[in-house]
Amino acid sequence: MTGKIIALEDVELSLGDGAARVEVLKGISLGVEQGEAVGLVGPSGSGKSTLLMVMAGLERPDRGRVLLDGEDLTQLGEDELARVRGARIGIVFQSFHLVPTMTALENVALPLELAGRPGAFRRAEEELAIVGLGKRLHHYPSQLSGGEQQRVAIARALAPDPAVLVADEPTGNLDEATGRAVADLLLGLKRERGATLVLVTHDLALARRCDRTVPLRAGRIAEADAPTGAQDAA
Ligand code: ADP
Ligand code: MG
Repeated sequence: MTGKIIALEDVELSLGDGAARVEVLKGISLGVEQGEAVGLVGPSGSGKSTLLMVMAGLERPDRGRVLLDGEDLTQLGEDELARVRGARIGIVFQSFHLVPTMTALENVALPLELAGRPGAFRRAEEELAIVGLGKRLHHYPSQLSGGEQQRVAIARALAPDPAVLVADEPTGNLDEATGRAVADLLLGLKRERGATLVLVTHDLALARRCDRTVPLRAGRIAEADAPTGAQDAA
C-alpha cells in the first residue's frame, strides 16, 4: 500500500498522567523514502524526540499507524517489536547512552549478540575501526571524549546494518568542530550503506545537509516540506 520505508498515518500520542497529561503528537502523517535523509526541526517541546521514538518503535501512539517497510509496528507485541528494533532500526541519542560498565567494543557488540548475530565481536571491531576508533576498543565511555563516545554510539547503531537510522540531536552535546566531524561520519555512513536517516537537530547547517526538512510545531507538521538541494540527493 506504500512504497515508503517509513509511513506515519495520523499519529496521536499523549504523555504524562492527570494534570500533567500533554497531547504531544496531534495527528502526524509523514512518509519517508528509502535512502532519504530527513531533518526534523522545530522549537523545544514541539514533539521531535517523541516523534522519533514513535518511529523507532520505542513509544506506542494512542492512535494512528506506524509502518516500517509496510509492517505496522503498532500491531506488534513487545517481543516482536524488540526484534524489529534490533534488526532494522538504529538509534543515536544526544547524550550517547553507552553502557558505562562496558568497553567500546562490548557496547558495539551488545546489540549484535542480542540479535544472535555470529561473530559479534569481530564485527564490532570492524565497525569501530570504520568510525576511527580502532585503537580505542578497550576504553570505557568515561575514558573517551564526547566525540569519541558519539562515534561508538554510531558504530553501535550501524553494526546490525539497520534499514533506518534515527538520531536525536546527535551533535547537540558536542563542540562545533567535533559536531561537524560526527555529522560528516553519520551522513557518510548512511549514504554508503543506503540507509534511511531521520535526524532531529537544532543545527541549521546540519538540517540543510538532509534531503529535506520537516518542521514540527506544537505536535503538528507546520508546513509542506521542501527539498533543500542537499548533497545527499542522488
Ligand atoms: P522536543 O524533542 O521537540 O523538545 P519532546 O518530544 O521531548 O519535544 O516533548 C514534547 C512535549 O511533550 C513537551 O511539552 C514535553 O514536556 C512533553 N512530554 C514529553 N515526555 C513526556 C512525559 N513522559 N510525560 C509528560 N509530558 C511529556
Ligand atoms: Mg528533544
